[in-house]
Amino acid sequence: MWRGVRISGVARRSAPVVVRHLWELPDGGFEEDDPVVALTFDDGPHPQSTPAVLDALAAAGVAATFFVTGDAASGEPDLTRALADAGHTVGVHGWTHTRFTELTAAALDDELDRCVSLLTATTGAAPRYVRPPYGHINAIATERILVRQLVPVMWSVDPKDWRRPSPDALANHVLEHLAPGRIVILHDGRSDATITVAALPTIIDGAHELGYQFVAL
Ligand SMILES: [Zn+2]
Repeated sequence: MWRGVRISGVARRSAPVVVRHLWELPDGGFEEDDPVVALTFDDGPHPQSTPAVLDALAAAGVAATFFVTGDAASGEPDLTRALADAGHTVGVHGWTHTRFTELTAAALDDELDRCVSLLTATTGAAPRYVRPPYGHINAIATERILVRQLVPVMWSVDPKDWRRPSPDALANHVLEHLAPGRIVILHDGRSDATITVAALPTIIDGAHELGYQFVAL
């Protein structure tokens, strides 16, 4: 399973850190000649939606990455632990889901540190990945993430499941935009994730038919 990560383009000078955030999996998305892609789920864990997503992933034998908020994870410790226990990667999505660009550096530091502490205590492993809420990030936020040895992760396929397209439209968008290394953004953090859950088998089966394997970050 793909586990390694490199950030290319990190240049440390006296001036701001320049980084290429992770929009796609490293190494071109190939592992042992098989193209790989990643499913990511944001904004959970949610007591109804997340178990449904977990069931769909378990049924297909697929590992994914969940970017949880500290707010949600602190209220659902058992569910947060269940994500890790099921073999999924648990990453940081901020504590309050405030745009990192709207937080002071001190407030962002506080959110990141609280999230890392919570997830480390809850899952038994320190998180390695951070997804900025709304994908909003700037040089300061990037630097605050990188000094913690965390990796900022964006995405490269966005079917906008929060707009509630039909399950078929959602799945078709994902399958039409897949390419080796692509990172798909979905959401499990709202009360009704039925469309996303309904689309998952079509996404997973369709991707497998196209020759892709799924990996957790
Ligand atoms: Zn979010």
